[in-house]
Parts: sequence; C-alpha cells; structure tokens
Amino acid sequence: MNAHLAPYLNGEIAGDLAERKREFLEIGRCSGSYPMATARRDGVGSEISVWCSNDYLGMGQNRQAIVAMKAAIDTHGVGSGGSRNIGGTNHYHVSLENELADLHGKEAALLFTSGYTANEGSLTVLAAMPRDTVVFSDAKNHASIIDGLRHSGAKKHIFRHNDVVHLEELLAAAPADCPKLIVAESVYSMSGNVAPLAEIADLADKYGATTFIDEVHAVGMYGPQGAGIAAQEGIADRFTVVMGTLAKGFGTVGGYIAGPAALVDAVRTYARSFVFTTSLPPAVAAASQASVQYLRSSDVERKLLLENARLLHSLLIEADIPFLSTDSHIVSAFVGDDDMCKRASQMLFEKYGIYVQSINAPSVPAGEEILRIAPSAVHDQSDVEKFARALQEIWKQLNIPTASAREWST
Ligand code: PMP
Repeated sequence: MNAHLAPYLNGEIAGDLAERKREFLEIGRCSGSYPMATARRDGVGSEISVWCSNDYLGMGQNRQAIVAMKAAIDTHGVGSGGSRNIGGTNHYHVSLENELADLHGKEAALLFTSGYTANEGSLTVLAAMPRDTVVFSDAKNHASIIDGLRHSGAKKHIFRHNDVVHLEELLAAAPADCPKLIVAESVYSMSGNVAPLAEIADLADKYGATTFIDEVHAVGMYGPQGAGIAAQEGIADRFTVVMGTLAKGFGTVGGYIAGPAALVDAVRTYARSFVFTTSLPPAVAAASQASVQYLRSSDVERKLLLENARLLHSLLIEADIPFLSTDSHIVSAFVGDDDMCKRASQMLFEKYGIYVQSINAPSVPAGEEILRIAPSAVHDQSDVEKFARALQEIWKQLNIPTASAREWST
C-alpha cells in the first residue's frame, strides 16, 4: 500500500462522521412534504440547433428521470433544507451514493452540489493529508482541480499534458517514501484528448502513488454501463478515486467522488465545499439516480453519440477543417484567433441557426481559440451533415486557415 493511502486505511486520518451517517438518514426520512412547486422549461420549439451542450446524451429530457424528479418533488418538495451534516441528508442522497459506488466498483461515494465543488473540496483534503503529500497534476487539468490543489497548500509538480515520460521524471525525482498523489482527467474538456490511463496506473504502482481521475466528460458516455474510460479499458480498479459529474452525461446537476470508504469519509469530514453548503435537492438526487440506472442498462444513447462524433470527425477531415482530437465526442475546431473565433460563432448563429460557443482565453490560452463542438445523441445524421457544411462555409467566408494551410494532422 502506498504512503499516501496508508494513513487513510489504517485509521490515522479518520473521518469521524461514518457513525452518524445513519442518523442523517433518519432525519431525511422524517422530513415530510413541502408545498409543491411548478417546473418551467424554456427552449421548447426553438429553431436554434445547439452544438455546445454538455447534456451529451439528452438525459436532461429523459422520461424516467423526469418522472423520478416529479415524484420526489411531490413527496419531498423542491429543497433539501440544509447541509448534509445538519438536516440536509435524505435517503435519495444516500441511495444515489450507493448507486454511484456500485457503478464504479468502489466501496463508497460522496455527492457534492457540483463537479466543481467535488474536485475543489476533495483535492483540498487529499492533497493536504497526509502532511508532505506531493502532487503530480496534468498541465491541462480543469480549473476546479487547480483550485483544490492550490487550496490544499501541497507541493505540486505539473507534468506536460498526457506526457507519461515527463510524469515519470517528476515521480522519480521525488523522495521515494513521500506520499504521492497523481491527478488527471480521462477525457480532457477542451481538446477531447483521452489520457494514457494504463500508463498512468503503471507509474502509480511503480512509484507508490494514489490516483485521482476526473471522468467528468466520460461518465455515462463510455465503458460498460457508462462507468467511464477506465472501465472501458478494464482498469477502473487500478485507480484509487474516480470523480464525476451528474451535469453532463447524466443530464442533471451535482458532482461526486467514489473510492475507498476511509478516504471518502475523510473527505466527508474535512472538505469545506461539502460541509458548509446546502445539499442537492432530493428531487435532483432522485432524477440523477434514475438517469444513472437508465444508462447502466441502455447502450443506445452512447452508440448514437459516438456515431455522430465519428461522422463529424470524417466530415471535418473532408472539409479540411483543423480540429484537436479524434479521441472522443468533444470536437474542438481550431481557429487560433480571438476575434475570428467570436465572429465564427456569431455567424453560425445568425446565418445558420446554429449555436456553438467560441472558447477564448482564459478557458484556453490566447492564440488557441476554438469552437468547442459537442455532438450529442439527440442529433441525427442530417443534423451532423448540415452542421459540417455550415462550418465549412464559415471557414471559407472568414478565411480561417484550413488544416492543409496549417499543415495540421489530427
Ligand atoms: N471537471 C472537468 C474536467 C470539467 O470540464 C468540469 C466542468 N465543465 C468540471 C470538472 C466541473 O463540473 P460541474 O460542471 O459539474 O461543476
């Protein structure tokens, strides 16, 4: 067992709340009904074709999730009434946590109100404890990871994006017996690149490091039952903690971690973004669980999403439009100019009724502006074809450099 994980598992870093979990559950059961609320849904009948939604599988409109949410609203109202440790734990939260732990084959899971707070809160704890932990973090990790690591005060080394040779250099240079934590994403949010997970797991074993993998852009979409990229590669058990969101593939809102119970209990106890905030509404937890359960048994949406992504890849290659990666469903067309990128997005909207947001600094470095295109399971083949044609026309009209002009190979 590695020097980072050992103090959690042998009880030196103990979450003191495990015992009280049962008590919270009772409070949740007694919470009774609140007055009913009505839901309002915008955007119905809109003629805009959306190509930048993270609801990649269309689960925000899934019947089972909607029915579960409505039923929970009828019985439990619209709010949770408090933080998880003070009145705001409901059996829907606990049940969803059990479902997520089971999905990822981990001992325990912990819900947060967003993926952002899940990363920030968990990493603040896991990088700070045990003392003298050294962190190894991919250069393209999300802001929520960066913020968590910053708030931990831990010493950190940034390895070049997806560069396991650099990661190994840094690991080898650290003291052999110091606690180590490697943090990476599986699918990178802006480029769509997939991490070399098996090599990262090999290095974690070799150098005795705990691993924390953000699968935000993978859960629901990849792997058996939608458990993510590590599960797709058959190596989920090689990672200590998996982190995910409910707000993308699962179509609702909220974030979570899943991992060893001792470690999850420590995060439950010490993560300020878990402790000091109101929990998710029970109805959101109910809808999320319905969505997770649905995607555990249906492959249809995953297949459609990947078919659309593959078709888009091939049409963009034909149209000579440079884009960052064919690894995943995130297709980032490279513009490389701030003003041009905004104009491309605006013209797509005004002339073609297509909404795709331009991504500018600070989300990407200046000079690396992209149109981050997110095909989804609810687009069909003709939508993809229309979209690719529109993009090709915009490229010509604005004279944006093509892939050949940039000598670009995706
Ligand atoms: N991690 C990554 C890689 C992300 O891209 C995002 C948000 N886009 C988050 C975490 C935060 O997730 P959420 O939107 O659920 O707060």
